[in-house]
Amino acid sequence: MNKKTHFGYKEVDEVDKAKYVGDVFTSVAQNYDIMNDAMSFGMHRLWKKILVELASVGDRDMILDIASGTGDISKLISKEYPDTNILMSDINFEMLNEGRNRAIDESFASNCSYCQLNGEALPFRENTFDLITVGFGLRNFTNKENGLIEMKRCLKRNGRLLVLEFSKPMNPIFSKIYDWYSFNVLPKLGSLLASDSESYQYLAESIRMHPDQELLKQMMLDSGFSNCKFYNLVNGVVAIHIAYND
Ligand code: SAM
Repeated sequence: MNKKTHFGYKEVDEVDKAKYVGDVFTSVAQNYDIMNDAMSFGMHRLWKKILVELASVGDRDMILDIASGTGDISKLISKEYPDTNILMSDINFEMLNEGRNRAIDESFASNCSYCQLNGEALPFRENTFDLITVGFGLRNFTNKENGLIEMKRCLKRNGRLLVLEFSKPMNPIFSKIYDWYSFNVLPKLGSLLASDSESYQYLAESIRMHPDQELLKQMMLDSGFSNCKFYNLVNGVVAIHIAYND
């Protein structure tokens, strides 16, 4: 019998999940940036800035941005640290291509290169990167543990992994309002702005299926990271985990 996993609330064969996720991002690629601004009231820009502030980027760091999508995080790092080497990477060609076009159009391509890859099987040697970032990508992995183990393997000693991801609100009343927003407003926004309510229904469901702050921290420690801490943003709607490879 095939191993099962979740695609949002649906149970699917593990071997099929990457294709379903791929279909979602192929469908949203062109409207991804507009939708991000609309759904988060622009707050995702601030969350990404905070991630870069917390990353302690070194001037000449080798950086892997996994699930880089349209390149927000790579752009912030590139503009602030022009002597770093940034590898933008994504499993989905359309998203990676949007990111690459944007890097050229918005003049941050000079220290960026591009690689289509699956974050669960990284095609790099041990000890390659000083910093790995994953912004709103880990939630979509078929096997998050495999991904984390791979990230740890590819980090240099003293390297850092920063994961920005939706998480679990702390306050129960706020949590109820957030649930209402996610399941009533998000799919409608998707339908209105991107003619695609299904992908945004998946977004809401995948957030609920993602491990909460403490569980993700434990998964990082179990993957071999020596230390891990997290910061809650907007009452835990989003969290930034930093894991160290000491
Ligand atoms: N990091 C960008 C940001 O924060 O705006 C894009 C995030 S977007 C929500 C999620 C991205 O994860 C998509 O571009 C998707 O193709 C990518 N992704 C999903 N599964 C992946 C995997 N296994 N390996 C690499 N990228 C993956």
